[in-house]
Amino acid sequence: MRKVITAQDIDAMLRTGEPLPPDAILTPSARDALARRASLVPSRPREPASTRAEGGPRAAGAEPTVPDFEFKWTPGRDPKTPAELDAFFRSPEIEKLKERFCDIGRRIWAKDFVDGNGGNLTVRVGDSLVLCTPTLISKGFMTPADMCLVDFEGRQLAGGRKRTSEVLTHLGIIKRQPNAKACVHAHPPHATAFAIAGVKPPSCLIPEAEVFLGDIGYARYETPGTPANADAVGQVGRDHQCVIMENHGVIVWGKDVEDAYWKLENVDSFCRTVWIASQLAGGNLHQITTGGVRELIALRQKLGMPDSRDQLRECELCDNSDFRPGVVCQVPSRSGGSTPGSVAPDPAVEALVAKIADEIMKRLSGG
Ligand SMILES: [Zn+2]
Repeated sequence: MRKVITAQDIDAMLRTGEPLPPDAILTPSARDALARRASLVPSRPREPASTRAEGGPRAAGAEPTVPDFEFKWTPGRDPKTPAELDAFFRSPEIEKLKERFCDIGRRIWAKDFVDGNGGNLTVRVGDSLVLCTPTLISKGFMTPADMCLVDFEGRQLAGGRKRTSEVLTHLGIIKRQPNAKACVHAHPPHATAFAIAGVKPPSCLIPEAEVFLGDIGYARYETPGTPANADAVGQVGRDHQCVIMENHGVIVWGKDVEDAYWKLENVDSFCRTVWIASQLAGGNLHQITTGGVRELIALRQKLGMPDSRDQLRECELCDNSDFRPGVVCQVPSRSGGSTPGSVAPDPAVEALVAKIADEIMKRLSGG
């Protein structure tokens, strides 16, 4: 029986290098996908994404390298006219990114990090240009032809489908943080549970989380897709690579979309582990020492990831009153954004407590 090949099968074959069966029946979308591919990258074989991400096979004698998926553009040279924008949007470099969106989308969907049309992806591709996923689409079943190009105000410049409304939230981060070259937003269940419980995930528990996520940010709730939400998330995202969006989900950023997606996996895995550990030990989780955490922050910075905690004092570094009730840092946090549970001492209350304590001492001593 002859096999029917869809556009999705073509995408998978291009990723894995699996050959096309000679007697296969191609659907019209599969023919389009092949034609598009042939006209864009005529002769270069594509390495499977999974092996590239791990470093991939290399020629004998070649120096080992770390794969770099970061999109680089020439500053001051953004395409402007409709013809320039159209050519740029269909260029081999952008087509490669569109395929990467499809790949990451399938992984997000397969991990149950999104349902229905949830989640969205962006990559900065110019001084003020961003490639993004469209609205109302399952992340598990996108094709390169679905993607959109927008400017820094979210105005759509190219693409047949309407861009996601949540691109404004991504832009809120990208415009404030030059190192944010790609963002991934999703609703991974464990991290989203923290967002709904109103609990900022604690720090100082797992070394990998300290290095690859840093201090997780927490942005107050605003209606998704609105400028208010873009502001709330953008302000927190400037200093935090991973942001829990209150009553909503998670947004992470990185130097490329693969990097950002890894952080999405990291944060949901971390939240799941903390949740399980909390069932075992309640709020009494065993913390890494602050000295140990300082070493991890230094390692994170050495790997090129910013960390707003490097100036914090000891009591600010690992305090999280959601998980250590009764422990309240006496130094107001210098980092931006809201941090549920962190309470600065009120001088009036402190004075009242001192006065009552004096009164009790006087009565006890018969004074
Ligand atoms: Zn969302």
